[in-house]
Amino acid sequence: MEIRENVILKPYTTFKAGGPADLFAEPSSRDELVELIEKAQREGLETFILGAGSNILVSDKGFRGLVIRLGKQFAGIDVKDLSDQMELTALAGTSLALLGNRAASEGLKGAEFCCGIPGSVGGAVYMNAGAYGGEIKDIAVKVTYYKDGVFTDIPAADCGFGYRQSIFAQDDMKDAVIVALTIRLDKGDKEEVAARVAELKQNRCASQPVDVPSAGSTFKRPTGYFAGTLIQESGLKGFALDDSGAQVSPKHAGFVVNNGGKASASDIRRLIDYVSDKVYELNGVRLETEVRMIGEWD
Ligand SMILES: Cc1cc2nc3c(=O)[nH]c(=O)nc-3n(C[C@H](O)[C@H](O)[C@H](O)COP(=O)(O)OP(=O)(O)OC[C@H]3O[C@@H](n4cnc5c(N)ncnc54)[C@H](O)[C@@H]3O)c2cc1C
Repeated sequence: MEIRENVILKPYTTFKAGGPADLFAEPSSRDELVELIEKAQREGLETFILGAGSNILVSDKGFRGLVIRLGKQFAGIDVKDLSDQMELTALAGTSLALLGNRAASEGLKGAEFCCGIPGSVGGAVYMNAGAYGGEIKDIAVKVTYYKDGVFTDIPAADCGFGYRQSIFAQDDMKDAVIVALTIRLDKGDKEEVAARVAELKQNRCASQPVDVPSAGSTFKRPTGYFAGTLIQESGLKGFALDDSGAQVSPKHAGFVVNNGGKASASDIRRLIDYVSDKVYELNGVRLETEVRMIGEWD
């Protein structure tokens, strides 16, 4: 397995911004993953586990340490038939959309929401990703993770899933690497499932800037409000501070976008902070970012 130095992370994120990782590797097996973690521990390196990079903003200065990317090399889906249900186990690097599409192709119900989320299975577990009334928590049976030299299976009920959260974001699980997710789905009608997938895709394309770099919803939904509505009501839909490319999407105020991928991470961060402050000033609601800030920031 190659460990590369000084790798620019921008292409590995959907925001299309961000500086270099000191070290970067893409393991293709559990053994290679363990090898990397052991190396990091031996050498006192910080590690960051990167999935599809669709919920992060990496600073322009980049990440001091080792980025371990679980992508296509760490992907695969196993299917088990349980008479009226099926169980699918996907490795962390598998695309969530691919898992959703695989389930749909088997005529399985409940994972349709996965099809439009551009993350990896690992990132989806970490974030308890969800859309259109479904979330990982609803379909997950078991998560496998690696921590302190041991691979552990835990039932989904113990994953602390909540709105865009899981135990994996807690400090005591900082070193855990999600390795696989097992979901269980009811068998259904293939055509109905396909129609639901198409409907959700159409809704998403109609309401979200899916073809412009972003990290999806920039902010979490504050209790009792919608971030996009608050931003729109603050007069910030389509707003930009400058011509850097960072803009509040004119299509959906909940998304900060990076037009043409030309804005730096600092440009994007500046706009995010501005929006958050403005909404607080005008509405008294403090928006919390759903997007995770990675690397060294001023
Ligand atoms: C256009 C667009 C639409 C989106 N729509 C939605 C939506 O409808 N619903 C939704 O919930 N999200 C949405 N998102 C956000 C994003 O796709 C999800 O949060 C997704 O689950 C992130 O997965 P990822 O693999 O990209 O994670 P990354 O961005 O790579 O990482 C996110 C966090 O997860 C951690 N992580 C990733 N993999 C692992 C692992 N194997 N082990 C331990 N930690 C890990 C990372 O360290 C990081 O802290 C959207 C994003 C975009 C760009």
